[in-house]
Amino acid sequence: MKADLITISDEFDLTTISDEFNPSKIGILVDEHTEKLCLPLIKNHLSDFIHIIVIKSGEQNKSLDTCVKVWKELVDIQFDRSSLLILLGGGVLGDLGGFCVSTFMRGIRFIHIPTTLLAMVDSAIGGKLGVDFMGYKNMIGTFATAEKIFIQPRFLKTLPKRELLNGLAEVIKYGLIFEPSLLDLIESEDKVDKLPFLKIIEISTNIKTKIVDADPKECGLRKILNFGHTIGHAIESMALKNHKDLRHGEAIAIGMICESYISLKRTLIKKHELERIQQLILNIFGHHPYLVSSFEILIDLMLHDKKNKSHKILMSLLDGLGNCTFNIVVSKEEILSSLNHYKNLNYVN
Ligand code: NAD
Repeated sequence: MKADLITISDEFDLTTISDEFNPSKIGILVDEHTEKLCLPLIKNHLSDFIHIIVIKSGEQNKSLDTCVKVWKELVDIQFDRSSLLILLGGGVLGDLGGFCVSTFMRGIRFIHIPTTLLAMVDSAIGGKLGVDFMGYKNMIGTFATAEKIFIQPRFLKTLPKRELLNGLAEVIKYGLIFEPSLLDLIESEDKVDKLPFLKIIEISTNIKTKIVDADPKECGLRKILNFGHTIGHAIESMALKNHKDLRHGEAIAIGMICESYISLKRTLIKKHELERIQQLILNIFGHHPYLVSSFEILIDLMLHDKKNKSHKILMSLLDGLGNCTFNIVVSKEEILSSLNHYKNLNYVN
């Protein structure tokens, strides 16, 4: 990735965009929340002639139908190949908007301004774009990179706490697989909203950039980012099917405990390390044993994970704190015992 791709500051000046990119037209894509809460903070940096395109928020709108709406508006406002779209929103808007512009006229330029913690530390970096299709997450998509990613931590001030925690799960993951100092940082505060988010974002974006640069198309190393996600995605899919309100990070938090347990059973981490991980995650996310009670359904969902090979369940496992291995074949019995372990944890919310 270009060295100056990402800027992290509440001070940056968007008025330079026109000079730097000389676009024929500029548009900005927002959802109803970022239109109300984030757009006013940057509006005085933007020309009055900018086109505002509003979509509905929420994973249920990360669909081809929403893309058609965006593409139609781009045609209506006569976007051409030298136009530029700014994406102002969380991971849903960024994945969808990026997909729309990277396919519109075979690809036009875009600038990403992530407004959730998850988008700042994770989804805005790495070029994976797309929408859900036929009930499958991110089934249709492309890889493309923004011209610039401007991260303004001040947007977090209006983010609901649950969304903040949603992003924090990915930060904990970076701490476990790559940079244990992140865990120290998170453990040092008893209240999540007091965390040093600027520092956390700087460290996290560095980690994601390093991993993605080493393996842009997820042929090897990038798979370590899937730690906690094999079991976590199954929990998330089951919740989706049952119309339970569960955020991605909440499912991944459970997945990280289970996959750490499997790492312990394979003597890849020590008992005190598993205890530390559990304590940290349970303190932040609580304990939800009912989410893992349908063992067989969860295993079935894992068997259909698109990351598997030859009908075997593949996982990324911790190999010491701050290190991770990938493409490890894990048995059904190991997964069952990890789910059982989580279910029986002794923790009072
Ligand atoms: P989201 O985009 O749905 O945002 C969560 C909610 O917060 C929405 O209602 C949104 O309108 C609102 N919001 C956004 N910014 C706000 C702000 N500053 N103040 C108040 N409200 C605000 O959720 P998310 O967690 O950011 O993203 C989840 C999506 O990210 C999923 O679709 C997932 O698949 C995707 N994702 C992609 C990648 C990738 O590499 N591309 C990585 C991880 C996750």
